[in-house]
Amino acid sequence: MNSAQVLRIFKDITRIPRESGHEEQITAYLQQFAAERGLACKTDKTGNVVIIKEASPGKENVPTLVLQAHQDMVCEKLASFDFDFKTQPIPYEIEDGWMVAKNTTLGADDGIGIAACLALLESREPMGKLECLFTISEETGMDGAFALEPGFFEGKFLINLDSEDEGQLFVGCAGGKESNASYTFSQEALRKGYKVLKIKVFGGLGGHSGDDINKERMNALKQLVRFLYTELQYDYQLLAIEGGNKHNAICREAYALIAVPEDEVQDMKEDVKAFNAILKAEFASSDPDVEAAVEPAETALKPIEEGDAAAIIATLLAIPHGVQAMSADIPGLVQTSTNMAAVHTKDGQLTVLCSHRSSVQSELSAIAEKLEATCFLGGFDIEHSGEYPGWKPNLQSHILEVSRASYRKLFGHDPEIKAIHAGLECGLFLEKFPDLDMISFGPTLRGVHAPGEKLDLASMERFVAHLNDIVLNFA
Ligand SMILES: [Zn+2]
Repeated sequence: MNSAQVLRIFKDITRIPRESGHEEQITAYLQQFAAERGLACKTDKTGNVVIIKEASPGKENVPTLVLQAHQDMVCEKLASFDFDFKTQPIPYEIEDGWMVAKNTTLGADDGIGIAACLALLESREPMGKLECLFTISEETGMDGAFALEPGFFEGKFLINLDSEDEGQLFVGCAGGKESNASYTFSQEALRKGYKVLKIKVFGGLGGHSGDDINKERMNALKQLVRFLYTELQYDYQLLAIEGGNKHNAICREAYALIAVPEDEVQDMKEDVKAFNAILKAEFASSDPDVEAAVEPAETALKPIEEGDAAAIIATLLAIPHGVQAMSADIPGLVQTSTNMAAVHTKDGQLTVLCSHRSSVQSELSAIAEKLEATCFLGGFDIEHSGEYPGWKPNLQSHILEVSRASYRKLFGHDPEIKAIHAGLECGLFLEKFPDLDMISFGPTLRGVHAPGEKLDLASMERFVAHLNDIVLNFA
């Protein structure tokens, strides 16, 4: 296999519609590819495909290698660009060493992974048994990886071809879990002469609750409740707290509705102003546009009973947020974190959504328990859901050693060994195939999941040479 062959197959794939959830045509293409070459092929109920190529003569004793890519792609285009992903081939250009789709996503994530697998399946060079696994709907929740059934493939060594920085070998990822906490409160009448105010904390960068959790960005909800807590010494009524949507985003803006005595409105404005200065100073380097402000508001909501309001504010302040542990094996890797993602007030209930990540399963359970304990103290109910396993880095891994030695032999220097603090399909594979020894790497891609996605062609040449060398010399 060489990179020209991989590129030719990838160009073919750019003509096949394959948006997540609509993979029928790429699934059929893979099945036909296998049939035309006399290769065994299995498809499971969800649409995952495995194509099997038996060992070349003399290579029967080489351990089976599983090569894995995902069938689907993110379909995003510029609003001004008239294009239908369901029927049209992806338009691309080759420019300054990059293959780029200027107005749409390119689908090199993970079309290059598919193409590399197919080039190896076609290759006449002697190699051990290959099982090429193509999962579905990776981009929208890893449905294919979740649905994999034990025994769908046999190999104990797996190479995931869905990474985006050539020269880096990935050996771990985080698992996750969500928690929904809630507090049912009583209400009281708005006190006489009280004015409703809206306290806002906003302007944060937000970001991904995995990749960005160690960047000291403001969680608007955490800062808002910090302010509300210090103000508990004064007489105010809490009506609502609102902020955040997605479990996997750091909350960028949040607000509270409170009522204060009319003659204390000015004091409250002064306090918010002082808090604004504190926020600006604390986040000057990491999140410079954060702000706190206050404005008059109107609402039909009734205030939360005083004791309930205090319990809510204290509990929200105590709920952990941010990095909980760093990896002792991989410098700079966040091992365990938690994100207080959203708080909403509705129909006599205040709800809190938190999401936790860890590459160490026991730490994932431990952080969820820490939240449980906080909720117990504060009188909140709590439920956990959406758990998926992580992939703990194993620096003694055989496939890592083989891949590292091959890289050093080909390019004269060591690749970087990394792990990510977010989910990869590899974590899910371990649930059904607990003995798997895995690694993940790929060519350099930029701007994935957005129009303008591009593939660095020189990096693809190195990626293909590296993968080929591992497959041909695996033992
Ligand atoms: Zn991908």
